[in-house]
Amino acid sequence: MVKLGHITFLGLAAFSAAGAMAQEPGAFPPPKTEPPIVTPGKTSADPPSDAIVLFNGKDLSRWRDKDGGAAKWNVRDGYVEVAPGTGDIFTSDKFGDAQLHIEWATPPILKGEGQERGNSGIFLMGRYEIQVLDSYDNKTYYHGQAGAVYKQHAPLVNTSRKPGEWQTYDIVFHAPRFDEQGKVIDRARVTVLHNGVLIQNNVEIYGITYNDRPALYIAHSLEEPLHLQDHGNPVRYRNIWIRRL
Ligand code: MG
Repeated sequence: MVKLGHITFLGLAAFSAAGAMAQEPGAFPPPKTEPPIVTPGKTSADPPSDAIVLFNGKDLSRWRDKDGGAAKWNVRDGYVEVAPGTGDIFTSDKFGDAQLHIEWATPPILKGEGQERGNSGIFLMGRYEIQVLDSYDNKTYYHGQAGAVYKQHAPLVNTSRKPGEWQTYDIVFHAPRFDEQGKVIDRARVTVLHNGVLIQNNVEIYGITYNDRPALYIAHSLEEPLHLQDHGNPVRYRNIWIRRL
């Protein structure tokens, strides 16, 4: 009984606090500009009208290798596959705050274990990796599996499809801000849906996602190229589009 009464009391307190807040109508000015019209794609996987299509299945014209030359990964049948040993590929354009849609598949033929199986990665701003890995029946350290902010945040759940099957990431990224001395004043944050399932819920990124030393921020511009990782495995990508926010 005592316990019940306590809950009731707390409930009333919360209610009157909400009531007090509701007594200030108009404290926040209404927006003066109308939200722009964006025509959605046919499905939520298709690019909406304001998206920049980074890869449409045909060519790598929006991508470069690390020296600025042509990207050397293999394009066929509507996807691009990592050509192991040719290095990461980088967008010609730069992005900061953004919504990114990307589809990927790890090799259907199982080779290697843990980090050696179907490893690639999406490096937001060239620094902050969302891990791509075959995490279907393939154990590794939790903050290194598919959908991890590499070595920082494990995904909330493992919703991986089987090797060879197409998977999606929908990523909402908030770029970090630095002051004039190069000190981070607003850290990066990221939300990730894997195959439509929330796996990173607006988590704070602690800095560059190194594999061999602690994360650390080093000042950079508000927009930087994003890149895809060549980790030696022939991982495939398709239908990549991005919206600046
Ligand atoms: Mg990786």
